[in-house]
Amino acid sequence: MRGRADAFANICDGPRPLLQKNLFMSSLAVLHASQLVTLTGPRRPRIGPELSELGIIRDGGLLVRDGKIEKTGPSDEIERDVGDAEIVNANGRVVMPGFVDAHTHLVFAGNRLDDFERRARGETYQQIAKAGGGIWSTVEKTRAASDLDLLAQAKKHANWFLHCGTTTVEAKSGYGLTVEDELKILRVLRQLKKAMPLEIVPTFLGAHAVPRKLTPDQYLDVVINEMLPRVSAEKLAEFCDVFCEPGYFDIDQSRKILSVAKKLGLSLRGHVDQLTNSGGAKLMAELGATTADHLEQTDEQGIAALKKANVQPVLLPGSVYALGSSRYPRAREMIEAGLAVVLATDFNPGSSPTPSMPMVLSLACAQMKMSPAEAITASTINAAYSLNRGDRIGSLEPGKLANFAIFDCRDYRELAYWFGIPQTHSVYVRGERVAW
Ligand SMILES: [Zn+2]
Repeated sequence: MRGRADAFANICDGPRPLLQKNLFMSSLAVLHASQLVTLTGPRRPRIGPELSELGIIRDGGLLVRDGKIEKTGPSDEIERDVGDAEIVNANGRVVMPGFVDAHTHLVFAGNRLDDFERRARGETYQQIAKAGGGIWSTVEKTRAASDLDLLAQAKKHANWFLHCGTTTVEAKSGYGLTVEDELKILRVLRQLKKAMPLEIVPTFLGAHAVPRKLTPDQYLDVVINEMLPRVSAEKLAEFCDVFCEPGYFDIDQSRKILSVAKKLGLSLRGHVDQLTNSGGAKLMAELGATTADHLEQTDEQGIAALKKANVQPVLLPGSVYALGSSRYPRAREMIEAGLAVVLATDFNPGSSPTPSMPMVLSLACAQMKMSPAEAITASTINAAYSLNRGDRIGSLEPGKLANFAIFDCRDYRELAYWFGIPQTHSVYVRGERVAW
């Protein structure tokens, strides 16, 4: 066995190749993690004090066979079982499950740089929309883009996620708003899934905004009677989402869409209570949704409703930050109420242009008073359960996929502490090195 001092001696020697890609390699042993953050625990989303239990193994290692984790433990124990496995020396770095980002809008064309600058100058959302910005500008660019162009930009985004240590993302449609354009986005997601190692969970968000020239009720008819049957028949999405907000899709309209989606076999998520406390959390509870997302305005009644119905809250501090707001969701009250909190980026060109879960960890700790351990749990195992994948990803436990990241730090808390600096050393999906 190598001593701790030896194992940790090269912590500062920076990123360098640990492993040459070998197509015939079927086993891999990672040794000498300063902290192997396993998140071992009950086979369900973590609540209350469980959010703080990371199952850390010091000087830890893991053994991977055929893309799955066979064993975790102290490095000396793993070393005994190495056999012919390729060895990755983590050299005293942190090794943990790849982040699971449970709320992104990964596919879109262009960016919103002009909006960003206008907002920085103090212009309002209405002024920006009047000047040709806002969501509609992204819809127009996304409609005009070819499948190939959209796929090329989506690949770029997918690489950003991988380089931030994220190995699974949920990704929504919602910038098409016609039958063909919504299907185009979901098909691009399907192609992206085949082309990239990033694991992708697709969500249909046709009800993201009401297109110009249609009333909400007219568009509701298109979503329910034209889009949803096609999405379901082509099996293009696992979840259905709605932007539930007065002026977009109100409670009744959101209920109609999500009820039909549920009958078609889709699980439910929802953008709720972001701008107003309008009963969105209660609606998600009523419908038995998997998640209720945003919740910046949700009060204690909404929190109680989510708890009663076992709905997981997905909190998105990146969008609060990027919009220059200070109204973050009430994470502490949610944790104290026993909710299985999830953190995600809300990656999108308008309100949250970041693919970085470490940035989200920083915001969760600094602005929402979550502890670094709670934030890690919320962005790995709890996020995995919110995507119906808690039995396959989100923790480093035997039988799960070997999706993990090595970070250039000794203590997991550094991920939330040092912000604005990439700490990713390398990233693995199903035991294959995919980034850095
Ligand atoms: Zn969103």
